Amino acid sequence: MAESLGRVDDVQSQWARVRARLRNEFGDAAYRSWLRNMTLQGVDAGRVRIAVPTRFLRDWVAAHYVDRIRALWNNENGHVAAVEILVGPSSAPAAEPAELPPRDTVEAVDEKDISAPLDPRFTFENFVVGKPNELAHAAARRVAEAQVGDARTVPFNPLFLYGGVGLGKTHLMHAIAWHIRTHDPKRKVIYLSAEKFMYQFIRALRFKDTMAFKEQFRSVDVLMIDDVHFISGKDTTQEEFFHTFNALVDQNRQIVISADKSPTDLEGMEERMRSRLGWGLVADIHPTTYELRLGILQAKAERSKLAVPPKVLEFLAHRITSNVRELEGALTRIYAHTQLVGREVTLESSQEVLHDLLRANDRRVTIDEIQKRVAEHYNIRLADMHSARRARAVARPRQVAMYLAKQLTPRSLPEIGRRFGGRDHTTVMHAIRKIEELRAIDAQLNDDVELLRRMLQG
Ligand code: ADP
Ligand code: MG
Repeated sequence: MAESLGRVDDVQSQWARVRARLRNEFGDAAYRSWLRNMTLQGVDAGRVRIAVPTRFLRDWVAAHYVDRIRALWNNENGHVAAVEILVGPSSAPAAEPAELPPRDTVEAVDEKDISAPLDPRFTFENFVVGKPNELAHAAARRVAEAQVGDARTVPFNPLFLYGGVGLGKTHLMHAIAWHIRTHDPKRKVIYLSAEKFMYQFIRALRFKDTMAFKEQFRSVDVLMIDDVHFISGKDTTQEEFFHTFNALVDQNRQIVISADKSPTDLEGMEERMRSRLGWGLVADIHPTTYELRLGILQAKAERSKLAVPPKVLEFLAHRITSNVRELEGALTRIYAHTQLVGREVTLESSQEVLHDLLRANDRRVTIDEIQKRVAEHYNIRLADMHSARRARAVARPRQVAMYLAKQLTPRSLPEIGRRFGGRDHTTVMHAIRKIEELRAIDAQLNDDVELLRRMLQG
């Protein structure tokens, strides 16, 4: 094998096979948008260098596909240990073999098109629906399926999606855009991150070109801005965002926003902006449940045609609870490992491959942490978690902390009682019931508990 490493034709045919596999695995759309633009620059010392025409593509391929490309290369050529994606000229050092499809003109990312590229995997078809995300999913579908000129055009404005990282906010937004692009291409959709929005705006300011900036949004039917918590604090951008937002709402254009917190909890956001953001439908994506995690794993394993025993999927769903991104990461790693060593997946091999991930997910919440966080949140003294004071202002937070201790730790009721100033287990039980009751009728308290739980588990 070693002598073939330097032979350009062999390397080129390996590359052709890698590309064919990529196309197979990721589909034509992804292939055309991202992967077709790659040019093999060379292979030396176990390192494959692949050029793409823009920095943007480089970052994208590096973030989404490089692991897979490396695994495929390694399959073709055992010497390959690393893959480097760089920005470079799009002509290969050697001619490509004839069986490759003719190189199409490079599909450069249009700099003027303000909308960010969409991940081809983020479609409704690929989104697994479960209790934690069913409202967000239904709302996103509704927005995607609304017709121009239909009375339902703007079912709720804005649609505000929020939830912790890796729970599917971006996926749902891209799914809306894909759906509209394929079913109703007349509707103009812009999707961009809040960061990009800011960047564009600041650039427009610098070039005294804010008119053109606003013009870009004028003809849009659906504007989606991802991760708006990044806009917080930047005054002029916020101001501009607010105006653009109002103008679009006035013209009955659909707006979809995502953030990591609810509108009311967005820090550094002006009051009028926060309240405006909460006008439409606010859909919270909750942390995953075991059932949802298992469903997602099954769907992904099936799609990648990876034979993973059900036991392993159950194990992963049980142990990797942080978010869907990590769950996917686990599966990708198992996949790569299987490809490299050519053995089938077992529970033991999975545990071995994932030991660091599993350890990170094992981080247990302690009662101390809960007491500290809850005290901070309600602005009471930590000592009041243990004290005998019964004033509502301290008693309620204490009950919240006991409730969370039961939910998030494996401690028994008597143990929890002991840790809260030596209280009886019936007191703890009463606290838990009380909070359960209140959560159903007191939205503020419910939000508080939810927020605390997220912070503690995050
Ligand atoms: P967020 O934007 O909320 O941080 P993403 O939308 O980027 O999260 O999701 C992280 C990863 O998890 C993505 O690869 C996405 O496809 C996947 N994912 C999240 N939720 C689901 C789901 N319900 N079904 C399938 N994949 C999901
Ligand atoms: Mg996101």
